[in-house]
Amino acid sequence: MKKLFEEAKQRLPGGVNSPVRAFKAVSGTPVFIKKASGAYLYDSEGKKYIDYVGSWGPMILGHAHPKIIKAISETAKCGLSFGAPTEIETKMANKICDLMPSIKKIRMVNSGTEAAMSAIRLARGYTKRDTIVKFEGCYHGHADSLLVKAGSGALTLGIPTSPGVPKDFAKHTVTLTYNDIAQLEETFKNIGNKIAAVIIEPMAGNMSLVPGGKKFLKVLKNLCDKNDSILIFDEVMTGFRVALGGAQSIFDITPDLTILGKIIGGGMPVGAFGGKEDIMNYIAPDGPVYQAGTLSGNPVAMCAGLETLNLISTDNFFESLEFKTKKLVEGIVEKANKIGVPLTTNHAGGMFGLFFTTEKNIDSFEKVMGCNKTHYNIFFHCMLEKGIYLAPSSFEAGFISASHSQLDIESTIAAAKDAFKKIKNGS
Ligand SMILES: *Cc1c(COP(=O)(O)O)cnc(C)c1O
Repeated sequence: MKKLFEEAKQRLPGGVNSPVRAFKAVSGTPVFIKKASGAYLYDSEGKKYIDYVGSWGPMILGHAHPKIIKAISETAKCGLSFGAPTEIETKMANKICDLMPSIKKIRMVNSGTEAAMSAIRLARGYTKRDTIVKFEGCYHGHADSLLVKAGSGALTLGIPTSPGVPKDFAKHTVTLTYNDIAQLEETFKNIGNKIAAVIIEPMAGNMSLVPGGKKFLKVLKNLCDKNDSILIFDEVMTGFRVALGGAQSIFDITPDLTILGKIIGGGMPVGAFGGKEDIMNYIAPDGPVYQAGTLSGNPVAMCAGLETLNLISTDNFFESLEFKTKKLVEGIVEKANKIGVPLTTNHAGGMFGLFFTTEKNIDSFEKVMGCNKTHYNIFFHCMLEKGIYLAPSSFEAGFISASHSQLDIESTIAAAKDAFKKIKNGS
């Protein structure tokens, strides 16, 4: 593994094509994957792991699901890309609109980043306003307007979180505290008529898993409606993951626009944004806001996504997935309690967060930041050694798939017990 990583680093910055894969947060050498099947990953040396990353969310059915591989193979035989319309794009759109009724029209793109960037341009074009609001701890991909953090006060100008993002872009982005109703109300009171859009993960999956408060989200929805600001739910991670209808179905809130990705590609590079018809009609070719993509709606990607959505919209799919998630987190918490390692968890559908802290209710970015990183890192490496593949960062959520068996869950809990002992012994 070390050799592969050294070789990779010669040609790929940091040895990877996406930074979190490099194991910087937990240190050590990343595991190079050779193949995967169902709930398992196999590394380049043949070691098997129970996978709780699932390619960061898409693999809700497990890896290399036979029906998806079959669909992809058959589609590929008929050509990989045409740059012209295909019927499967309409089928995919119909399926997503059926499952997520807030979406009346949809545009397919190639990543979550592209979807978020395009939705924001659309919202700005439609409202003829420039300001966007986002929340600390949420991630919406790496578009310039979104790599911004709060200045010294909530209402001061946003500042770039990455070199290369012009200050002039960042100043149009206001970053607020997740789940802070008073600050949200104050912001709308001051600049409500300037806000083009508010973008939010209704359940944040990029600071481990932190659900939005029901009341907080309702207040947000009302403020957006009152001020003609567009409410964008970023469900790239939560869409078809926390429930069949996404987080919006759990909270019973209808956003103006929704951003999707991950699961809708079934493992292929796909993103999408969609929502109210009059807003969506504002993009090219019907409307003036420009957006395009050479490979958007790619037939192979569409069939992988469509097959995934068909397979998860069967009876009891989410009940069964949630049951497994619950078993897993309850089992892990029980071991932590017994051994005396402070641990709190959140979970929803096939997604969970582990927090090494004495805090009981994790509802803010601040509380996530306050968790014990050393504990997570010991836990991570101990689990990895035992063949349990967790996210190489304490700020990432965990994912479970329909392929995880009762036995997989039991062995994960047993491994966690040993990892907690190691933490307790301070090694
Ligand atoms: C993963 C993710 C994105 C970015 O998607 P990419 O396909 O990685 O560009 C955006 N928003 C959320 C909530 C995500 O989890």
